[in-house]
Amino acid sequence: MLTGRTAVVTGGTRGIGRAIALELAGRGARLILTYRGNEDAAQETLRLLAEIGAEAELLRGDAADPLHAAEAAALAKERYGGADILVNNAGITSDRLLLRMDADDFDRVIRTNLSGAFYMLKAVAPMMTRQRWGRIVNISSLAGVRGNPGQANYASSKAGMIGLTLSAAKELGSRGITVNAVAPGYIATDMTEALTEGQKAAMLGAVSLRRAGSPEDVAKAVAFLASEDAGYITGQVLGVDGGMTA
Ligand code: NDP
Repeated sequence: MLTGRTAVVTGGTRGIGRAIALELAGRGARLILTYRGNEDAAQETLRLLAEIGAEAELLRGDAADPLHAAEAAALAKERYGGADILVNNAGITSDRLLLRMDADDFDRVIRTNLSGAFYMLKAVAPMMTRQRWGRIVNISSLAGVRGNPGQANYASSKAGMIGLTLSAAKELGSRGITVNAVAPGYIATDMTEALTEGQKAAMLGAVSLRRAGSPEDVAKAVAFLASEDAGYITGQVLGVDGGMTA
């Protein structure tokens, strides 16, 4: 159980982030959920959380802005006295073949996905350090492990999150903080809905379990890594991909 724990989940209002929020709340955690601008999705998530009696606060802002991370940490402190769990889930894609990708396409994805995770970790980890307990889970991607055509920016950001995870695990382990990454494969969300039918069929063909993953499949892995039971697991990259890596 996660009763009495506070979790900050970035991009926690839609898709995988919403499923993580509901899973952690179902296990007793209080939540700070960040999002970029989809107000309807954010309010719907709050409603779903209220239905199960969960305590949650929303914070709108841009993951690519370090001040937003500082605000999230301050809100966790003011509202719940600190944060015990951080899930860096907010992410975007901006797919284009390498030779057509301009510097802005590349930088925007890196800033949102990778720098955003670093800003949040830096803002939240001091609270975990003081209490000598913390769980950080970074949502990377199979694309960050294997690469993907059209996703040089995204794959670089997700590979970078693995480097961030491994380094942070080494630095923060002595303070009772575990840092792990989850690398989902093909998960049915708004992000993958935007792919062409051909791209979806190709991805599905590579999945041993012959189905797209659900946001809940990822959420259960995250909840395990955030739990007391995963206390001796750190610096790992857990694939949640139905066997795409096999
Ligand atoms: P969605 O696009 O469905 O949801 C993205 C969430 O992130 C939303 O809550 C969105 O807020 C928020 N967000 C986006 N940009 C920002 C920003 N700049 N600042 C703050 N919040 C932001 O994505 P998924 O649920 O599919 O993906 C979640 C994570 O999982 C991502 O990191 C993604 O890379 C990763 N992943 C997904 C896979 C998949 O197959 N779907 C596979 C592998 C990894 P808002 O609603 O306001 O826009």
